[in-house]
Amino acid sequence: MIRAGLVGLGKIARDQHLPAIDMIDGIALVAVASRNAQGEGVNNYPDLGAMLAGEPDLDAVILCQPPQVRYAAARQALLAGKHVFLEKPPGATVSEVDALIALARQQGVTLYASWHSRYAAAVAQAKAWIAERTVQRIDIQWREDVRHWHPGQPWIWEAGGFGVFDPGINALSILTEIVAEPITMLSASLEVPSNKQAPIGATLNMATASGATIDAVFDWRQTGPQTWDIAVETDKGILLLSEGGNMLRLDGDVQVKAPDEEYPTMYRRFVDLVGARAIDADTAPLRLVADAFLCGRHCPTADFKD
Ligand code: NAP
Repeated sequence: MIRAGLVGLGKIARDQHLPAIDMIDGIALVAVASRNAQGEGVNNYPDLGAMLAGEPDLDAVILCQPPQVRYAAARQALLAGKHVFLEKPPGATVSEVDALIALARQQGVTLYASWHSRYAAAVAQAKAWIAERTVQRIDIQWREDVRHWHPGQPWIWEAGGFGVFDPGINALSILTEIVAEPITMLSASLEVPSNKQAPIGATLNMATASGATIDAVFDWRQTGPQTWDIAVETDKGILLLSEGGNMLRLDGDVQVKAPDEEYPTMYRRFVDLVGARAIDADTAPLRLVADAFLCGRHCPTADFKD
């Protein structure tokens, strides 16, 4: 049984991590480190250092804070010899994640960079279907209402908070899972509100190594129905992944429509990784975001009031 401690008892920890850990054999939550909250039925600590000192038998640390503060915590946990589960995105920068991978390898422990959208119900089937075809064009539409999904989260608008790339990186994590070839960022435009540090909208132009075009629109200003769609045109038909990867249509016919089981599936994977002391930390989605910031045109846009 993996004895786990969780850091950052916020929205995603309560919505997904606590219920998923409860549901999965092989892992138990024994402690929480939080500056503001208390976990039920576990030992509570004000920070990670106190948790590591108070729980010498802890096997793993689950990091659910915003990306800007996760690197220092991940290093601390790895140096203490603990297995580490990172929420997405695995770091605020690519170099941080590379350094964590090297440290986990040196320590002989598991580092898991979780990409929850890759575990959506229809992603594996989409990947298998695409593998037998030639991709010609991909269109990604990731449009949601930031006021609904991220109320009272100042970190998301600050440097290192990713802005609209916080949801957008989920689309890129699916894209880099279902398309086997390398993907390059050709150009991008980033709409940044004048009173914020991170974009509220972005358009990306990418390509597969064999030349298929990939266009993506990420927008946080969508009210009404929300859109998380990836359409893939191939030489032998059209695939549409919607609902963030939980619904699949092939040439218009629904093949998969299933509830979201992403976090329980990720915890099963984490238990297996820890058993093998293995590392699973793909940086491909994060590199595409970094490339968009590197080559993107910055377009100031209207102030945004939460
Ligand atoms: P959140 O609720 O705003 O923050 C999570 C927790 O992190 C807070 O409750 C706080 O925990 C700690 N925290 C916040 N700011 C901090 C700071 N400056 N320094 C140290 N600790 C801080 O955020 P969230 O929505 O859970 O997102 C956390 C991560 O999960 C993000 O990387 C996000 O991309 C990812 N994620 C979120 C969702 C979602 O639907 N919200 C979905 C998938 C993944 P304490 O008060 O306990 O210290």
